[in-house]
Amino acid sequence: MTRYYVALGSNMGDRLAYLRAGVRGMSALGLEVAALSSVYETAPWGNTDQAAFLNAVAAVDSTLSPRGVLLRLQAVETHAGRRRDIHWGPRTLDLDLLYADGVGWHDAVLTLPHPYFWERGFVLVPLAEVAPDLTYQGESVQARAADRTDGVRRVARRWLQSVDE
Ligand code: ADP
Ligand code: MG
Repeated sequence: MTRYYVALGSNMGDRLAYLRAGVRGMSALGLEVAALSSVYETAPWGNTDQAAFLNAVAAVDSTLSPRGVLLRLQAVETHAGRRRDIHWGPRTLDLDLLYADGVGWHDAVLTLPHPYFWERGFVLVPLAEVAPDLTYQGESVQARAADRTDGVRRVARRWLQSVDE
């Protein structure tokens, strides 16, 4: 069993409903959701001329390979009405595979750890909630997140009682 960390993001329509659909979709496809962070609202990155994002991080357990997990995440995105026309544009649901302890991957469709995993506050702040003991390259996620809280605002602590809801 491998523990994967998945970033959830939405900046279109009923954003919280899309994050919930993301959690339920992962669970329905056999990815075991072990922990969920709070939901944070963050200013858009990349193309900044768009609506604010809701972001969260899930800890997900699976025996699948990273590529197998990514395929399922993409199926959940598609089911949530995700279209892939504008790079870094508005999206109903974005599910990014962030990190798995000791697992590295690099090919045309998957880079793990994700290139922004250890950089962005909207990832590190929720990640520190679900993986408080995580360290990477000798630094703790808590220290790393504490330096990157600007523009990352908690909006919901318990936003899904149960993935079976
Ligand atoms: P964004 O970079 O904004 O998340 P997309 O969600 O459209 O953009 O993803 C673009 C591509 O990134 C996907 O087609 C996927 O193959 C690739 N990709 C590479 N590494 C990862 C990863 N760790 N998690 C998710 N997608 C990844
Ligand atoms: Mg993505």
